[in-house]
Amino acid sequence: MSGPAVLKNMTYGELEQFVLSLGQKKFRATQIFRRMYEGCADFDEITELPLSMRQQLQETAVLHAVSLKERQVSSDGTRKYLFEIAGGDTVESVYMRYKYGSSVCVSSQAGCRMGCAFCASGINGLNRNLTAGEIVDQITAVARDTGSRIGHVVVMGTGEPFDNYDELIRALRIMHDSRGLGIGARNITVSTCGLTDRIYDFAKDMPQVGLAVSLHAPDDEIRRQLMPVARSCSMDKLLHVCRDYTEITHRRITFEYALISGVNDRAQDAEKLAARLRGMLCHVNLIPLNTVNENEFQSSAREKAGAFAEILEKRGIQVTVRRQLGADISAACGQLRLNRES
Ligand code: SF4
Repeated sequence: MSGPAVLKNMTYGELEQFVLSLGQKKFRATQIFRRMYEGCADFDEITELPLSMRQQLQETAVLHAVSLKERQVSSDGTRKYLFEIAGGDTVESVYMRYKYGSSVCVSSQAGCRMGCAFCASGINGLNRNLTAGEIVDQITAVARDTGSRIGHVVVMGTGEPFDNYDELIRALRIMHDSRGLGIGARNITVSTCGLTDRIYDFAKDMPQVGLAVSLHAPDDEIRRQLMPVARSCSMDKLLHVCRDYTEITHRRITFEYALISGVNDRAQDAEKLAARLRGMLCHVNLIPLNTVNENEFQSSAREKAGAFAEILEKRGIQVTVRRQLGADISAACGQLRLNRES
């Protein structure tokens, strides 16, 4: 094995095997798994373990996969984090407080190769995929910093989760395990820009976990301007796959739609979108675009978002206009990391 073992990369079963390989009893894995997801900062805090085993772990393993570099706190309670990962790159996470509890938005890649025109994360391309441990440890680190129990997770930060599929699935299994974080599958949502083959895989592998698809446009012309992925997959094809997803999983699908002033927020865009989504088991999340310094896109005015939502509602489409959280900090996807790089 090269270097110390990163325990947060391990599923419960793998941790058991690791503990056995150290010559220790299997039940020690239960204690470690529980305590590390309670937010232990150091092996010495796992006082249930004999001192000799804690020393053995210090020599052979590490507890954390990410380390805190920077934190911004918004007046609305939103917190934005920049974490360092092995190799020196950084990733972002966002902590949000809602009426229903605390939620963390985690990153799945350092950078992103999808190149969406409105997004700060794709500007410098993809540096590397995150490991499962690096995805999961963002949750633990945020829980430790805020002192709150994290009940909801969205994989919607930097990166395209389905472009790092295997580690994503491992991370979901680890965060869902009731012996550790125990986050309910239905309280986890993964967001994709629309990698259709992976939507089928996901329906099979994780039918209880929520799926959000970034649409951001009512037609191919606008979508292709905003999202390079749309050049190789039409909206008809994407929506066909989304319909299949709802039939396979019986789960409602969420469509993310960032309202961009003068680009996709006209009444005719709302009408077109409503017509395309008619009859689907879906919900539309209208998101006010967080301004990114490096591009010219501006968020639509609040009234415009309301009018857009009204048209969808009248056409029988379920819709929510999301509050803009963390507007006074660098809360746009990838902005804090980009500020660091430049
Ligand atoms: S919006 Fe998502 S998929 Fe598109 S570039 Fe940004 S991180 Fe990547």
